[in-house]
Amino acid sequence: MMAHSSFAPTRAAGLARIAAVRPSDYARSRNAIDGAVTQLSPYITHGLVTLPEVLAGVASRHRLDVQHKFVFELGWREFFRHVWANRGDAILQSLHAGPLPDEAYASELPADIRQARTGVPAIDTAVRTLYASGTLHNHARMWLASYVVHLRKVHWRAGADWLYAHLLDGDLASNHLSWQWVAGTGSSKPYLFNAENVARYAPAPWHSGASVIDRSYGELDAIARSRQTVGCAASGSANGVDEPERLAMPPAGWGPAPIHAASLANAATVAGRDVWLVHPWALGQPPRDLPADCLPLGLLLSDFHQTRPWSAARWAFVGARMAELAPLCWYGSQQDVSQALLGARSVHTQDDPHLAHLLPPAATRRAAPRLFAGIERPCASFSQWWTLVTRGVTNLHELPGLAELTRQSAAGPLFEEPEETDLQPTARQT
Ligand SMILES: Cc1cc2nc3c(=O)[nH]c(=O)nc-3n(C[C@H](O)[C@H](O)[C@H](O)COP(=O)(O)OP(=O)(O)OC[C@H]3O[C@@H](n4cnc5c(N)ncnc54)[C@H](O)[C@@H]3O)c2cc1C
Repeated sequence: MMAHSSFAPTRAAGLARIAAVRPSDYARSRNAIDGAVTQLSPYITHGLVTLPEVLAGVASRHRLDVQHKFVFELGWREFFRHVWANRGDAILQSLHAGPLPDEAYASELPADIRQARTGVPAIDTAVRTLYASGTLHNHARMWLASYVVHLRKVHWRAGADWLYAHLLDGDLASNHLSWQWVAGTGSSKPYLFNAENVARYAPAPWHSGASVIDRSYGELDAIARSRQTVGCAASGSANGVDEPERLAMPPAGWGPAPIHAASLANAATVAGRDVWLVHPWALGQPPRDLPADCLPLGLLLSDFHQTRPWSAARWAFVGARMAELAPLCWYGSQQDVSQALLGARSVHTQDDPHLAHLLPPAATRRAAPRLFAGIERPCASFSQWWTLVTRGVTNLHELPGLAELTRQSAAGPLFEEPEETDLQPTARQT
């Protein structure tokens, strides 16, 4: 089982991408499909690198101020997390009414979209790129979402669930809230695009003149606000691609062979031990202050994965890194895992909202590193949140995440993998 070759599942690859960021080029070309974007999101999503590490690494090589476009875009990720923290799983439903009631949209994504044969080059190229690489440029995600919702009248949630499953960086806050922003259920108006917009930002194979998106914005707005569906399988091309399978369990050859947590043998493995749970959103450096001889244990909670299956490519990306950190991995329900961990001396892990209600209750959760200040008060818009988190910040290093990294750097180099001592299980443990 191979990960997508352009995304090596290592922390070193994430750090190399940080070193390659060119913030001026980024600010100038970010909207272009072939612009100087970082492709850091799979590494950030799965915690191989953190937002403070990204910004510290870039700021150590380039002059940046807090209002730089690059810092601003990192802010969007944390803003979506802020909304998730405040609204909870309500973000998975329409936040408010969009141009049409929810019932006006289909609940299934049509096969011609899933198989990249709509006949609209921008959409078919986006879907092929997604399946081939596990990622998609931000502008292409917006085009795809807008086409699905406003022209094909498919509910944003169906599109969001499908895209989430195929992305290496699928994140329920960034993904589902971005779909809502496009749909107009999380923003004041629907996001629309046309063939002219595609021609301006994408290379020739994406150009979609004389297709259903070759219209004025006035026409597109009228379509988005009517029940009319535009473009369908009948007008699409016959040469599609197969949608990769979505899997609720790691496929064979995934990484560490997962052991079902209901197995009684598991309890013996952890009995009397200090355990660090390595779940898919905690694939960064383990904390330096874990007890000596702490057992790293990979953890896949079936309650989550059965509801939110992943592509084999995403499993491969996660599995390879998990194998590096934790040669032992459990797959099971929260109940079975919690039961099997009862005899452990202590259990620690990193918190993540994807597993908020699912982590074993006995586990001590450490907060995931954050770049910007935590804002208790719910912010209705990004600009409101951004004003609050950057108020009074005159120097990047005053951002809480960078200040914390500086504090930690006093204890040792920041951008090194830990020496392979504390967290290597002994032969007895494996
Ligand atoms: C419909 C739709 C679905 C999306 N789904 C996801 C998703 O599942 N996971 C995800 O991480 N992002 C998602 N995004 C946001 C954005 O498209 C990706 O973060 C970005 O394309 C990742 O590529 P990059 O790392 O090269 O980003 P860069 O532009 O290089 O940005 C660097 C980092 O900043 C953050 N960032 C930049 N732009 C955004 C943004 N608009 N929203 C949130 N964070 C941002 C990301 O962490 C990104 O890795 C979605 C956007 C849309 C419109």
